[in-house]
Amino acid sequence: MPHRPDHEWLKEHIRDIPDFPKEGIVFKDITPLLADKKAFSYTIDAIAHHFDRDEIDKVLGIEARGFMVAAPLAYRFQAGLIPVRKKGKLPWAVEAQEYDLEYGTDLLEIHNDAIQPGERILVVDDVLATGGTAEATAHLTERCGGKVAGIAMIMELSFLQGRKKLDGYDVLSLVTY
Ligand code: AMP
Repeated sequence: MPHRPDHEWLKEHIRDIPDFPKEGIVFKDITPLLADKKAFSYTIDAIAHHFDRDEIDKVLGIEARGFMVAAPLAYRFQAGLIPVRKKGKLPWAVEAQEYDLEYGTDLLEIHNDAIQPGERILVVDDVLATGGTAEATAHLTERCGGKVAGIAMIMELSFLQGRKKLDGYDVLSLVTY
């Protein structure tokens, strides 16, 4: 049997907050994980271990918790760091991609000069839920001429089947609910 690292203990540092930000949602709060020196460094190391640093040119973080995971990964890989932000937050010219929310749609934006043609991009966020956010970000990356080298999250809510939207990509989540 191939060895699969067991990251389950990280769940001790992920807090469930029922009915946040609205009724019926169980919010997965990573602030205890970020605040714990062992859990945070382990998380960054475990993601870094899965990808080959020579095959990543830039790490892309999705607003806002994705930034907190993407920045130490970029440093560790000696790669560049790119923010993808919600509509209207970035100061320079942007490419925008629509994505579905529970009700309606919204826009994710990236600076139009953030990615050079052919650059290999690791997309990073904290939670994979329905997959809409990661899918839109992957499309944005490709529209800018980048290649998605992988998609990494701390956790995946598998009952929402986000992976189905990310077929064909190397998707890593450390723990699954
Ligand atoms: P989705 O597009 O449905 O995959 O949602 C992913 C985005 O929403 C990520 O940026 C997450 O940070 C956030 N998100 C979705 N569901 C949750 C949840 N239950 N707890 C915390 N963050 C969530």
